[in-house]
Amino acid sequence: MAQLSPTMRALVQPHLVDIEPYDPNFTPTRINLSANENTYPLPDGVRAAIDAALAATPLNRYPDPLSNELRDELASWLGVERAQVCVGNGGDELLFNIMLAFGGRGRTLLTCPPDFSEYAFFASLVETGATSVPRDPVTFAPQVDELVQAAATANLVIVTSPNNPTGDLFPLDAVERLCAACPGIVLVDEAYGEFAREGSSALPLLARHSNLVILKTLSKAFGSAGIRCGYVVAAPEVIEVFSAVRQIYSVNVLTQAAALAAVRARAAYKPVVEQICSERERLHAALSELLVGLPQPGRVWPSQGNFLLARIPQASRVRERLRDEYSILVRDFSYAPGLADCLRITVGTPTENDAVIAALTELVKEQAS
Ligand SMILES: *Cc1c(COP(=O)(O)O)cnc(C)c1O
Repeated sequence: MAQLSPTMRALVQPHLVDIEPYDPNFTPTRINLSANENTYPLPDGVRAAIDAALAATPLNRYPDPLSNELRDELASWLGVERAQVCVGNGGDELLFNIMLAFGGRGRTLLTCPPDFSEYAFFASLVETGATSVPRDPVTFAPQVDELVQAAATANLVIVTSPNNPTGDLFPLDAVERLCAACPGIVLVDEAYGEFAREGSSALPLLARHSNLVILKTLSKAFGSAGIRCGYVVAAPEVIEVFSAVRQIYSVNVLTQAAALAAVRARAAYKPVVEQICSERERLHAALSELLVGLPQPGRVWPSQGNFLLARIPQASRVRERLRDEYSILVRDFSYAPGLADCLRITVGTPTENDAVIAALTELVKEQAS
């Protein structure tokens, strides 16, 4: 992005002078598979239920600061207490708040990149030092022993499961080792948890680890990225901290009403999530076949999320041509450390996935010849 003006550089806090805002790299296209949204229509009846809830919501009153009705619904779904849930304006707000509360100057955040770029961004906003133990460069497996060792001196550890953008799960026994080793807070970001195989959530570990925080969102499986609603689940004393530092009215009345209707209708999302998972396997098989056959072979990693990470020769060029010649948008990660020539492709509807497979087949063959 453009640099701050000289006047602003002189006025902002020194650590913000060179800050780079998060760039979703968006261009309008026919098919958008760049942001891991759920591209399916809402399940039957859910949109009507949300619309009815919105229509019945008065706009003249301030929201319930803590979204208690929604907390109760989430708590009963997840089998925890209301006091263990805090709702935010998207998972992003909660990620910022966890840095605000537990990070800060002279403290450190430990991560295992490649991961979600917002962790480092939010950490830098509040002057939190960043340390990392990068994943294996080939398999992207986290280096658990090194992470556990580093966690002993970290104030905050964030792991992502399934991880964005590599798609793998973070092992639960490794989460437990981190919780035991870290004197601070361990956050497991499960933004894509609904797409992962059963039994992979860290939620059951909450009973044993009082420093564990689990982040979830309605932006992915619930197809509601536009309403901005995420939540954390943790021990009541940790939730008290989240409740204390949050902007009081950040979750507006419309978001609370829509989220409550969506979460109440959670059973209706099951077939959609199942279809996305089966489309993920179909897309994975098609892309693998395409990429291993190249003179300079690429690869696609297995994924437990609603996206796939693929290494494709000349990825940046391929991504541009997908956008400009086929009007298909995917995410370029080739600039990121460890992700040379990598694109992240959201799993879409069958029609969208067919279009991606067909376009990539043409582009990759053309480039190889
Ligand atoms: C999408 C995402 C989130 C949360 O997104 P919100 O839309 O702010 O709820 C959190 N973590 C990861 C890794 C994500 O990809």
